[in-house]
Amino acid sequence: MQLSIDLTGREVLVTGGDHAARQAVRRYQAAGAVVSRLSTPQGASHDGPLPERPFLVAAVDDGQPGWDALLDRCRETGIPVSMEPSAGPVGHVTLVGGGPGVSELLTVAAVKALRDADVVFYDRLAPYQDLPSLTSAELVDVGKQPGHHKVSQGDIEKLMVQSALAGNNVVRLKGGDPYVFGRGGEEVAACVAAGVPVKVISGVTSAISVPAAAGIPVTHREVSHMFTVVSGHAPLTEKELTHLAGLGGTIVVLMGIGTLHHLAAGLRRAGMKANMPMAVIERGYRPGQRTTIAQLGTIVTAAADCTNPAVLVIGEVVRVAEANRGHAEAAADLNRLAASLMGS
Ligand code: SAH
Repeated sequence: MQLSIDLTGREVLVTGGDHAARQAVRRYQAAGAVVSRLSTPQGASHDGPLPERPFLVAAVDDGQPGWDALLDRCRETGIPVSMEPSAGPVGHVTLVGGGPGVSELLTVAAVKALRDADVVFYDRLAPYQDLPSLTSAELVDVGKQPGHHKVSQGDIEKLMVQSALAGNNVVRLKGGDPYVFGRGGEEVAACVAAGVPVKVISGVTSAISVPAAAGIPVTHREVSHMFTVVSGHAPLTEKELTHLAGLGGTIVVLMGIGTLHHLAAGLRRAGMKANMPMAVIERGYRPGQRTTIAQLGTIVTAAADCTNPAVLVIGEVVRVAEANRGHAEAAADLNRLAASLMGS
């Protein structure tokens, strides 16, 4: 169960050791509460007298024995107690897959890691706009800095490692899945080399979810039983194009807008038919999401004004989406007809 309570100006007593309680303190302060602290069950308080009757006691599970008496007293006197997780061990990095850019597609593990973070390094493909409601951590944009200079990959790795070595729980929030064209492997290696504990939380990759946002299933029974995810960051070689054209399943291309012309021409040269269905889905799950459907032979003209971020899909599955859309429109027409008949 989740409750939303307005804590503005309310007295909240946060119990638990300083290290374990630091994130709960930040969360309650960010929610506008007047926070006081009790860091040991014996009564060590930092900031003078404790409130006589706090609105809420936030009890951080810091592993120390002896808190039960206080919690029992709260229960007896009717003071609500919220059980809070401990901030966990210091100085580690968690690479978090943020999905295609909406917080609804974050995993439960991602939400927990964000809640427990001291610092979040994020970039613009992650659902960064919702971060202030998901974490009280310091937020650092490493996708674009003032002046629009991107932080280099090496510098991102240095920042993460330095912050973890300084004792912070660091989250590196990335778009989609950290291991799909996300340089997650390099960031893990940088942590390992510096002796910093690191773990990876998988995310919903745009390679599957962005086509889905346009109604395109990457596999479909009797239509496509495989899909290949390709980076369009650099042009493919002739050999790669030949292999790709010969596979026969669905081809999903990320970062492919800049090389679309080269890819379409190359697949044609490698023997793929000109009327192979193709879709470009821009800004999946975001305002302005747009799908452009054409064929391999016509896509370059049809998608001339398409921009990044976008996912390309090449294959017969594109027709499945069109057929489903046709059904959905027909069903909507029927519903409208039924409604008008019932109204008349
Ligand atoms: N790790 C990411 C991919 C990073 S590469 C993942 O698993 O999704 C960046 C590319 O991902 C973009 O150029 C674009 O091709 C694709 N992409 C990510 N989010 C997208 C979105 N919301 N809409 C369309 N394309 C997206």
